[in-house]
Amino acid sequence: MKALVLNAPTDLAQASIADAANGDGEVLVKVTRSGVCGTDLKIFQGQIPVNYPRVMGHEMIGEIADAGNTSGIAIGTRVIVDPVIYCGNCFHCQAGRENLCPNGHLIGRDCDGGFSEFMAAPSDAVFPLPDNISDNSAPLIQVMTTCLHAQNLAPVRPGETIAIIGLGVAGQLQVQLAKARGAGLIVGITGSATRRSMAEKLGADVTLAPGDDVAEKVRSLTGGHGVDMVIECAGAMSAFAQAIDFARPGARLLLFGIYTATEAALPFYELYYKELSIISARAARRADFPACIDLVSRGEIDLDSLVSHVLPLSELSAAIRMLEKRDDSRMKVVLDHSH
Ligand SMILES: [Zn+2]
Ligand SMILES: [Zn+2]
Repeated sequence: MKALVLNAPTDLAQASIADAANGDGEVLVKVTRSGVCGTDLKIFQGQIPVNYPRVMGHEMIGEIADAGNTSGIAIGTRVIVDPVIYCGNCFHCQAGRENLCPNGHLIGRDCDGGFSEFMAAPSDAVFPLPDNISDNSAPLIQVMTTCLHAQNLAPVRPGETIAIIGLGVAGQLQVQLAKARGAGLIVGITGSATRRSMAEKLGADVTLAPGDDVAEKVRSLTGGHGVDMVIECAGAMSAFAQAIDFARPGARLLLFGIYTATEAALPFYELYYKELSIISARAARRADFPACIDLVSRGEIDLDSLVSHVLPLSELSAAIRMLEKRDDSRMKVVLDHSH
């Protein structure tokens, strides 16, 4: 079968590889669309080490080509694949926190993924997609599950004021989820005018550019108190510090962006003095998939607006190069496997 194979860091080529085959308890999926993500870029660059050769891709949808011996799902059913595979038996899995399973792995990083014609997946890791969710937007449901998981750990209460820093794909999803959960004032913060106007269309009440007295403006929008919760999606220490600044005393800081720094200057005294709660969120739980599919199908979350480019699968290298450059008008890049 045809696949895009990473042979070494930055060495990506189309190749013919052995056909994917589904084992016991697995289904075979004919991949139809896949999303390209920052994790793929880091694997491509060698920042996330993998065993080579490796087929990347962890945001994918497709059609059931072989239902295997346990699924009972009809051939041809359109499904999304949960790429997070867990053991089901360990302390964390038994406690319902399978996203923290130490024996787990990620499809497209630790084993071959979706940038190919076919892939195998556990029968319980595929979810049927309703017809009213478009092919091009459906891979984004995987990204959305991570946002929903985060907001399940730090729920938005109706009427609360929420600030969201960083309005890339995840930030725009956090805006929409906060709105769907009944947030009051939603303030979106990014340096990009394009992304600010997108956030305003998708549910942000006010958007601000960092630097222009954001803390002052946030306080004046909230009666001088600061916001009830900050969702930090930029993954930058400066954004973390800013979140501490404009959170109200007693607020929650939901850290969704991933920090790789091991040292930082942060206003620790303010963190203590305001009695702020810090909540981290990693990956998603399996149950987040049907929940997200339902929210999208009911029209509560708009994924189509977040797809900026659709390219053929063979253009994966070009898609990854697009991710290397900062481009405000690029949101999710999706690959079409039909040509
Ligand atoms: Zn991803
Ligand atoms: Zn486990």
